[in-house]
Amino acid sequence: MNVNLEIIFDYYNQKLFNNELPKIPVKFSDDIDCAGICHCDFFMKKMHPKLNLLQNYYVPNTLLIEISSKYKDNYQRIEAILLHEMTHAWFYSYDKPKIGHGKKFRKKIRKLSAKAGFKIPYRYIEEMA
Ligand SMILES: [Zn+2]
Repeated sequence: MNVNLEIIFDYYNQKLFNNELPKIPVKFSDDIDCAGICHCDFFMKKMHPKLNLLQNYYVPNTLLIEISSKYKDNYQRIEAILLHEMTHAWFYSYDKPKIGHGKKFRKKIRKLSAKAGFKIPYRYIEEMA
């Protein structure tokens, strides 16, 4: 099966994220131990002058999504993994970068799942980063 990840990304960026995500490279990888991963670089933690909090700052244009080649033939899995990783990308771009799989992340996933009409996993059985 020949899956075009860019096309799936564009489709869901429009359908579920109102095209709020920047254009992010998406590729299959043989080298990752988890189902999917969203890479992103941050400026070093520094003190936010007004909030008096330590914050990470996302470095623009450093996002990259990788999906394990194991799922190359499982279209439903690919969609679910990709949407999970796109949600990380959304938080990296617009909200707290180091949100992990916390409460806010799960709330967003629930909203997106309802919109998509299928369940996007909070985490994956095979540890998704
Ligand atoms: Zn994750």
